[in-house]
Amino acid sequence: MPSESTQIPIHSVELFPPKTPEGMEKLKLEIASLNSLAPTFFSVTYGAGGSTREGTFDTVNWLRGQGIDTAPHLACIGSTREQVREILTQYREQGIDRLVALRGDMPSGMGAGNSGDFRYANELVSFVRAEFGDSFMIEVAAYPEYHPQSGNPARDLENFKRKVEAGADGAITQYFYNADAYFGFLESCRKEGIGIPIVPGIMPITNYTQLARFSDTCGAEIPRWIRRRLEGYGDDVESLRAFGHEIVLNLCRQLIAGGAPGLHFYTMNQSGPVRRLWTELGLPTGV
Ligand code: FAD
Repeated sequence: MPSESTQIPIHSVELFPPKTPEGMEKLKLEIASLNSLAPTFFSVTYGAGGSTREGTFDTVNWLRGQGIDTAPHLACIGSTREQVREILTQYREQGIDRLVALRGDMPSGMGAGNSGDFRYANELVSFVRAEFGDSFMIEVAAYPEYHPQSGNPARDLENFKRKVEAGADGAITQYFYNADAYFGFLESCRKEGIGIPIVPGIMPITNYTQLARFSDTCGAEIPRWIRRRLEGYGDDVESLRAFGHEIVLNLCRQLIAGGAPGLHFYTMNQSGPVRRLWTELGLPTGV
């Protein structure tokens, strides 16, 4: 396997499936704008328990129809082997060759008895490899600040390693704003002999309330000084966005300078903030 520094950088963008036809029309414009940046692939999220199953399929289908490399996310919790097999067969027929394989979080209202045939993402990775061989490149999730349910960082790392040993080709991280968390995590992975590319997930800062809510749920830390500055902008959206842009731009620069194998942007279905980062970072655009 080539070392990370000799690999072609993987710069990808993530979308979520819109809920309405109007939403899809708006998303198509954002996709066109993002596609002009020539990302390595677009990924499309999937609601655990199958809540966005149709929306994910439709969005993936549309992207494929445009000839765009697409990696659907697949969250296995609450699904049976048969359901997962059906989804993957369909994706293979559409020419999809990359997946983001996840456990997902049990949707509220779904009891422990409905957790389906998979308990953890490593079981999904093993299933995909056993049933579909090397038809798909498999990306998995990684957590530089550790998964909120893991309790213990060492155990979380062991669990991450299980996904790699089950056959993951690469990983995309949860977002973070402290580059040291990422570099520390990489170092721990190297000590464990984990050599797959681990691409940092980048969340642009455009809306403090939404970011604070997400971060509380997924266990990503907003450093106190950043939180205080963002809170201080109140309704001054323009200043908040300008500050957020500088923070994320500097983070990306540190990550690239430190040898990150690429960047994965959580676009929140908005092309503007990602385009600006992409351009100012001088990432390749394929033109
Ligand atoms: P796992 O790797 O299974 O880990 C979950 C927890 O269980 C961790 O605490 C881990 O330490 C522990 N664990 C893992 N394996 C074992 C084991 N064998 N024994 C004991 N403990 C174990 N969610 C969605 O619903 N849809 C999406 O599209 C989606 N996309 C995402 C994309 C990225 C890049 C990231 C980082 C997250 C995404 N998520 C998505 C969120 C993700 O589903 C949640 O963070 C979820 O809580 C964990 O999923 P996982 O695949 O990391 O789980």
